[in-house]
Amino acid sequence: MSYAQALRCRECGREYPLEPSFFCQFCFGPLEVDYDYEAISKVMTRESVAAGPPTLWRYAPLLPCDPDYKVDLGTGYTPLLRADRLAEALGLERLWLKNDTVNPTWSFKDRVVSVAIARARQFGFTGIACASTGNLANSVAAHGAHAGMDTFVFIPDDLEEGKVVGSAIYAPALVMVRGSYDDVNRMCTELSHDQPWAFVNINVRPYYAEGSRTLAYEVAEQLSWRTPDHCVVPMASGSLFTKIWKGFKELHQVGLIDEPQTRMSGSQATGCSPISTAYAEGTLNFRPQKPDTIARSLAIGNPADGYYALKTMQETEGGADMATDQEIVDAVKLLAETEGIFAETAGGVTVACLKRMVESGHIRRDEETVAFITGGGLKTIEAVQGHLEEPLRVPASSDAFVEALEARRAAQAGVAVTAGGA
Ligand SMILES: *Cc1c(COP(=O)(O)O)cnc(C)c1O
Ligand SMILES: [Zn+2]
Repeated sequence: MSYAQALRCRECGREYPLEPSFFCQFCFGPLEVDYDYEAISKVMTRESVAAGPPTLWRYAPLLPCDPDYKVDLGTGYTPLLRADRLAEALGLERLWLKNDTVNPTWSFKDRVVSVAIARARQFGFTGIACASTGNLANSVAAHGAHAGMDTFVFIPDDLEEGKVVGSAIYAPALVMVRGSYDDVNRMCTELSHDQPWAFVNINVRPYYAEGSRTLAYEVAEQLSWRTPDHCVVPMASGSLFTKIWKGFKELHQVGLIDEPQTRMSGSQATGCSPISTAYAEGTLNFRPQKPDTIARSLAIGNPADGYYALKTMQETEGGADMATDQEIVDAVKLLAETEGIFAETAGGVTVACLKRMVESGHIRRDEETVAFITGGGLKTIEAVQGHLEEPLRVPASSDAFVEALEARRAAQAGVAVTAGGA
């Protein structure tokens, strides 16, 4: 069963029944799921969570769907890794990485899709669809395949090869739309009026968005039921960012942790930074942008939750920053070289912004910080190709290898090597 009791308008507070709808008929504000927290606090304890499965379903009482309808590929309960070498490189004392690259389709989107598809099945939908910047398409396609549903994924036609193949392999109806994500989203919103499908991030968006809260639950549980001082989170629509904060507050509400004091800071790419730009300008009203960045998964020029992300920064004394494409590539490499985690460009955005915020003093050195690494690097190899050290190419001879190794070491040490020397 689920303890979700209504949809509530985030603006005027009007309540609606739990249906596939996403905006308020009175003020057009977005709808959010409301729960019976009183009842949840009676059934959910640290022990009951610990006894649950090693997936996001361990937090089932806080999810807006009946777990009987779940499509379970094993999403969630991903590692929280202490990152001492990266911390040292950045000048931080305590840094953790929430490694969501290890989900079934290698991004955090498996969380939101797990919840949306369960709720969609509970509503009786047999078709599932989405408008995506790439990762959502991969996840919807995989879950649709596992559940045997009619699956339709819509993406811009200029995405990375890894994201396109990463959807096509599950054999959904894959639609590549000539246009930006914002064009795809507008088209899918129109389609959602006539087609009998659950568009996970449109007509069932209130349920979808709730899946992101499981990242907060996991981080708190993995820190032995406490919250960090600072979180750094990548922002596309801004939904994930706001929901991590909601998740911490809810854990307090149901009595599992002390009141969170976490500061929430968001990261975007300079080439698509409507939320971070508004933060820098000190306004809650962002201006939409036309994206131009290698961080394609974050390339939403008109972010649905931008306003609420900016409010969350205000509420938590957090902030936002932005990183150039060059900084993103450098940060993907730094993360890999110091911690052994290969992230996609969104991870580069987060690590680059973390670096900038430590340098600017926005994040203090003694703040215990969690950075959210939300997607795997094999999806965006074109971003780093050509920026890596060339391999040693040798014939199959140990002498040739030793010679080549010595030549490389000498070159790296800046010692002149005689060309063609023995
Ligand atoms: C979708 C996505 C995000 C953030 O999405 P929101 O729309 O802000 O919730 C972050 N990282 C990756 C890799 C994503 O695919
Ligand atoms: Zn309203």
